[in-house]
Amino acid sequence: MSDQFIAACPACHKKNRVAADKPRGEAKCGACKSPLFPGKAFNVTADEFRAHRDSDLPLVVDFWASWCGPCQQFAPIFEQVAQQYADKARFVKVSTETEPHLAQHFIIRSIPTLMVVKNGQEVARQAGAMGPSQLVQWLNQHL
Ligand SMILES: [Zn+2]
Repeated sequence: MSDQFIAACPACHKKNRVAADKPRGEAKCGACKSPLFPGKAFNVTADEFRAHRDSDLPLVVDFWASWCGPCQQFAPIFEQVAQQYADKARFVKVSTETEPHLAQHFIIRSIPTLMVVKNGQEVARQAGAMGPSQLVQWLNQHL
């Protein structure tokens, strides 16, 4: 294992080099000073998505839309699990309304759709919302 890795900032999306042995709670962005591991899900544009995809943390992606009832119900579950996995993965949300090209790129046919992206590659996909324990089980299989 290398002694440092790249993490994109959840606030300004600049890439940061992080020492592997640094306590994650202390890591701050060199550009904007925001915590690098806040344990929160956040919305990304296509460009911001690429910054996170091209860093070393796995991504858990939630494709959603404002008119989608199941997406609204799932949002707090995604948020809760994001907190639980703060050190291990980035939880990003892609609005299929504001980022239709990104949704098209991944051929998203229904929402919500969840996806795990590792080393720039999609490694798992799940159409439809999950409960918290189901989501954790799914993530443990794929992260
Ligand atoms: Zn930043």
